[in-house]
Amino acid sequence: MIETIPTPCLLCGEKEGRVAEEMTGTQLRELWRVSGHPLSDNALGPITKDFSIRLFECSACGFRFYDPALAGSAEFYEELMTDKKYPVDSPEFMFALELAAKFGARSVIDIGCGEGAFLDLARKKGLETFGVELNRVAAVVAGKRGHAMIHKMMEDISLDEVGGGVDILTLFQVVEHVSSPADFVRDASRLVKPGGLVVVGVPSEKRMLGLLHHDPANWPPHHVSRWRISDFHKLAERTGLKLVDAKHDKLYGRAISWAWEYHNRMAPVMNQAQLPGGSWLPKTASLVYRYLGCKNYSPLHGLSIYAAFQKPA
Ligand SMILES: [Zn+2]
Repeated sequence: MIETIPTPCLLCGEKEGRVAEEMTGTQLRELWRVSGHPLSDNALGPITKDFSIRLFECSACGFRFYDPALAGSAEFYEELMTDKKYPVDSPEFMFALELAAKFGARSVIDIGCGEGAFLDLARKKGLETFGVELNRVAAVVAGKRGHAMIHKMMEDISLDEVGGGVDILTLFQVVEHVSSPADFVRDASRLVKPGGLVVVGVPSEKRMLGLLHHDPANWPPHHVSRWRISDFHKLAERTGLKLVDAKHDKLYGRAISWAWEYHNRMAPVMNQAQLPGGSWLPKTASLVYRYLGCKNYSPLHGLSIYAAFQKPA
């Protein structure tokens, strides 16, 4: 049912939309528990047990988002980050490095750089590296690896601190956490030289055959928006940047069986039927998929989608 929604579209500002999905605070708690990360009431803040979390869908652009007032507090991230593993490599890193080479980039700033894994790869390609990371423990690690860490919020960084402007700014798995994605990306582009790039990587709304729809990490307080490749076009329009490339992770066979089994753990919490076949069917399906080499021509998405936006010269 299309109605006036309490939160205007986070991407285009439209006030009409529909509630695409809902879950209660009790279900969210249970999903975190079955995923192996039980969280305290304190960490979940305004999401009390009987609170209804609603996923909205914009009637103008189709973007899916939540009330950004539910975005994670410091307490939430402190509990979640206790055993946080940062990726050492990922397809979105390769995407950014290929573009860096193509555009002749000489410097990069990674916002939310974790322990500096992407910056390590960028430096190997000869780029000067800057990093920003709110998790202090991770920021210290990145600093020890020799990257120029800037201990500020992105909006407070001056151009002088990044050598007058970088050639590439990367936002890996950041934008889905922020309450105003277009403003955030536009503000980030301030640190990029004219003609330079902003690279954005976010979880795909179509990831893992849609089996991770109820992954609690894809709901507030963790995420406040969900992304499709088509949303990158709207993001370009809203930021005044030019979309130059967009891609998605390949879906690997081993990821199918993992997502299938994870889905089956979450389904009872959402009163949904589990997929059939115990563990043998997902394993068989993933083996067949691998045997046929499907990942190389399949339009199915793995975890993430990513795009590069160019700042006007
Ligand atoms: Zn919209």
